[in-house]
Amino acid sequence: MTKSVTISEVGPRDGLQSVDRVMATEAKKAWIKAEAEAGVSEIEVGSFVPPSLLPQMADTAEIVTFAKTIPNLDVVALVPNLKGAERAIACGADKISIPFSMSETHSINNVRKDHVAMIAEIKAIADLVAQQPEGQRPHFEVGLSTAFGCTMEGPVPDDQIVRLAVAAMEAGVAEVGLSDTTGYANPAQVTRLVRKVKAAIGANKLNTLHLHNTRGLGLANVMAGLAEGITTFDSSLGGLGGCPFAPGASGNIVTEDLVFMLEAMGIDTGIDLEKLLKVRDIVAEALPGEPLYGFTPDAGLPLGFEKAAA
Ligand code: ZN
Repeated sequence: MTKSVTISEVGPRDGLQSVDRVMATEAKKAWIKAEAEAGVSEIEVGSFVPPSLLPQMADTAEIVTFAKTIPNLDVVALVPNLKGAERAIACGADKISIPFSMSETHSINNVRKDHVAMIAEIKAIADLVAQQPEGQRPHFEVGLSTAFGCTMEGPVPDDQIVRLAVAAMEAGVAEVGLSDTTGYANPAQVTRLVRKVKAAIGANKLNTLHLHNTRGLGLANVMAGLAEGITTFDSSLGGLGGCPFAPGASGNIVTEDLVFMLEAMGIDTGIDLEKLLKVRDIVAEALPGEPLYGFTPDAGLPLGFEKAAA
């Protein structure tokens, strides 16, 4: 099993876009800076969607520009389309990620594009990335969303996911990730799907899982991913944003609990857990009354807890 793991914090994007209130730009900056100082090396800081759709993300250009001034931080921006990718590249994002829904019904409902149209959009973005001068090309990743099931279609056949992963790679992306957008995944399914996709596109082209904890299986699914060589896990501080389908449950897996599990197992995350726990105060103060999740923050660290040796 891998000795170190990258945790990609997605709270400022995935978490905040699920919260109705708009977090102040200065609070977002303080959050991102504090989390980077706690040792988080990759943060998805926002999404280049039209502000009319998601006012919570209206300041993404300013946030990306700010985050780029933080040392040792990979700045990720979510882009829904070519126009978003143009804006992300103009701001100098290190990594851009486009969600590609494996359920065609979900894709048509969400972004009004079927799979053929999505592959064309992905190819246009890959071409744009390739045209950038060397050294200024962002890492371009496709997140295969609803990969573990869809709230509209139910199960999505494995063969369809494999076929679309191959099509995305052929369109020119650097790698794909698997996203449990709906919180349907179970560990056996994670094992099976990661193996099938890796076998089709190359073991080093699938490194990331985006998991939710809707049904309490988030960390169990991480364990399954670790066993298959996954090295990057998305998570959200305080599980911010919750889960729209299951009141009381976090949406994304909770960064604090994920770091605790990995460090306690001797897997290095590079993150100082005590510093990370203090970052919650910034979020709590900026969004008073917003539920924050996590078992480790509530229970505290065990007596004699030792982090992984770096
Ligand atoms: Zn998510």
